[in-house]
Amino acid sequence: MTGTTHQQADVEGVDGGVGLTALLVAAARAIETHRPDSLARDTYAEHFVRAAPACAHWPGRIEDVPDGDDDPLWGRFARYFGLRTRVLDDFLLTSVRTGPRQVVLLGAGLDTRAFRLDWPVGCAVFEVDRASVLAFKQRVLTRLTPTPRAKRVLVPVDLRADWAGALTTAGFDPDAPSVWLAEGLLFYLPAPAETHLIDTVTGLTTGGSALAFEAKLEKDLLAYRDSPIYTATREQTGIDLLHLFDKEPRPDSAGTLAGRGWSTSIHTPFDFARRHGRGPLPEPNDALEGNRWVFAHKPRP
Ligand code: SAM
Repeated sequence: MTGTTHQQADVEGVDGGVGLTALLVAAARAIETHRPDSLARDTYAEHFVRAAPACAHWPGRIEDVPDGDDDPLWGRFARYFGLRTRVLDDFLLTSVRTGPRQVVLLGAGLDTRAFRLDWPVGCAVFEVDRASVLAFKQRVLTRLTPTPRAKRVLVPVDLRADWAGALTTAGFDPDAPSVWLAEGLLFYLPAPAETHLIDTVTGLTTGGSALAFEAKLEKDLLAYRDSPIYTATREQTGIDLLHLFDKEPRPDSAGTLAGRGWSTSIHTPFDFARRHGRGPLPEPNDALEGNRWVFAHKPRP
């Protein structure tokens, strides 16, 4: 499962390959932060973008984008990430209110929730990503010297390998309830690594734990190759998302969890855009059409 022949192995840092997608999301969060009607604020996001030479020409706010909100990447897609950030912020904070004091961010990238969110006393946030991505993040944060609002634990590991040991060695307690997030991650992993991830989360969680993840439903991702979002992302950042996504058939992770007794609910991003009155709504040839946000809760015994 180490996947050395997989395309992810091509480039290891945030400067390219899947690592660069972490900067794409950070740039979107920077833009969202500066909007007067922002759904989520992340004042660290712009610092990551400015620290990476690969993003030197990326905008920091929507006013810097010639087409503004009509730009499929920095307008609509960035707003998507802003909405996603907000919805998953809400999920995490609601989940820890019911008791768990361990939060695991899988494929954490440049997620700064350990600093941004108002965690209950005694909470630990585990950030799991590849070493090179976490090292870049740490270099930027060290300059900013922010204080985490939870115990922050970095877990540098590749999620295509057997990663449970790295997490428990870092202090994660599988006998206590936990909240997990896989935001913008699963479609980059080979299908067996996703299956392994769901099995691992199942094995490391007690009743009262929760998991949210993002999935893509399309059987044929390439059908959207010419969609405005993928085209604009390729042309303006050089990131070919379809190249980075794993194109093997995906496991039905929500179905697997339901079969193991978890309660699950599956939403489109559009559900939340309508609820918040901001964010992307459906349009033709839409790369977001198959995106689903899945919320799963493991019942208490
Ligand atoms: N969850 C973060 C967010 O939403 O801001 C980052 C999302 S970014 C699109 C995808 C992240 O998944 C990157 O930080 C990347 O390094 C991480 N990732 C992808 N494949 C991984 C792997 N095999 N092991 C660990 N992390 C991985």
